[in-house]
Amino acid sequence: MSLYLYNTLTRKKEEFKPLEGNEVRIYSCGPTVYSFAHIGNFRAYVFMDTLRRVLKKNGYTIKHVMNITDVGHLESDADEGEDKMIKAAKKENKDPYEIAAYYTDIFFKDMVKLNIERPEIIAKATEHIKEMLEFVKKLIENGYAYETSKAIYFDISKLDKYPVLSNRNLEEQIAGARVEVDPEKRNPYDFAVWIKAPENHIMKWDSPWGLSYPGWHLECSAMSRKYLGEYFDIHTGGVDHIPTHHENEIAQSKGYSGHIPAKTWMHVEFLQVDGGKMGKSLGNVYTLDEIKEKGIEPLAYRLFNFSAHYRTKLNFTFEIALSTQKALNRLREGYLTHVNGNENVEEEIIKEYKNRFMEAINDDLNMPLAVGVMWEVVRNSKKSKQFAELLLDFDEVLGLDLVNSEKYIEDQTNIELPDEILELVENRKKAREEKNWSESDRIRDILKEKGYQVKDSKDGMTIEKI
Ligand code: AMP
Ligand code: ZN
Repeated sequence: MSLYLYNTLTRKKEEFKPLEGNEVRIYSCGPTVYSFAHIGNFRAYVFMDTLRRVLKKNGYTIKHVMNITDVGHLESDADEGEDKMIKAAKKENKDPYEIAAYYTDIFFKDMVKLNIERPEIIAKATEHIKEMLEFVKKLIENGYAYETSKAIYFDISKLDKYPVLSNRNLEEQIAGARVEVDPEKRNPYDFAVWIKAPENHIMKWDSPWGLSYPGWHLECSAMSRKYLGEYFDIHTGGVDHIPTHHENEIAQSKGYSGHIPAKTWMHVEFLQVDGGKMGKSLGNVYTLDEIKEKGIEPLAYRLFNFSAHYRTKLNFTFEIALSTQKALNRLREGYLTHVNGNENVEEEIIKEYKNRFMEAINDDLNMPLAVGVMWEVVRNSKKSKQFAELLLDFDEVLGLDLVNSEKYIEDQTNIELPDEILELVENRKKAREEKNWSESDRIRDILKEKGYQVKDSKDGMTIEKI
């Protein structure tokens, strides 16, 4: 079955075939490790992981590089503002390397919680200064970069076409004065590939242009080239990378070797919260731990990501995420029911489900459709081990760790209840003994508001986290 992927570069869904043999070479723009990654960032990495899993399901092997930006990402994606790492270091009164190590560690722990496979190669920007310097020198040699008092700039007028990835109109933007023109720059949209460090700048390296540091876009061009070569299969990132970061990566690679480095460019749309942008000032930038505190497991967040296609915006609300958590619990129960079932299912039926699942994932990762097929299997009235196996087969792509369903269900029933909840439970027991049903219902509602569901049966009362 053919696999189709949408390519931002050609604005088309294209049939995917690796450039060489059976191996797919992928580069993903990774995190800037100056702070905790938030659930919006993780939408990008769940997407990246889903792509890997879909490619593997199609029989390909993967060589995947993800970078860690630990220097050079300025506050704006263009060349303005302070380096995010240095700003965080000053704020937390720590060394930028300490900041990077701390947040990188948490990032990878969160990746494990989301069952995101670790890319084969993790490349830290600060460990590739040599390759970046070599890249800058080549750009200058090839006539694509020039020195000013502030930086080495890329000369976009040397390209046959800029931009190629986005369809922004530079002339209109310049007329709208969105870019402050530096008189030393040859063209307003020339961007810094290598930046001269001001006096007290913390992260800087020796170079032919004095103490200086790399530009963010250069990092990805130099590292992708080092590990994946001049031309590789897929480059991924968020939609925010289209107009500047990836556009400039393409420009640099064209300046270096004359062509666009990746064949397919894939971009994931943004996660929104409560129908709007996420923002620190809005107080709606959540980490995985924060949503966990409200009863949403990382794997429920993973499942939540499949509720929209990766090229459409996805709206996070606690209400929807909590219902996804419940759905995940039902999925685990449904899987176990099949595990314990003994009915026989015709191979044709299994094959048909498999086909429909593959068709969905191979249609540019249509995960909402694939998840729909999964639910049909879960809900099938025949209870069969063959269906349990089929669900595990789907889970190679979904990554919901269904094989451990029993453990998750046990963990949920053995939860330690906070004192406040224990007290409410005791009061409710008392009310029921006194046959004070209205008080019992009132306490049940309070518990529900606090994220706990009580169930009454003839054997007594059970309580679960919603
Ligand atoms: P950063 O660490 O800021 O470089 O961002 C890491 C990744 O998260 C990039 O691929 C961004 O495109 C992506 N990203 C940032 N915010 C969101 C969001 N709200 N939804 C989806 N992806 C995002
Ligand atoms: Zn990048």
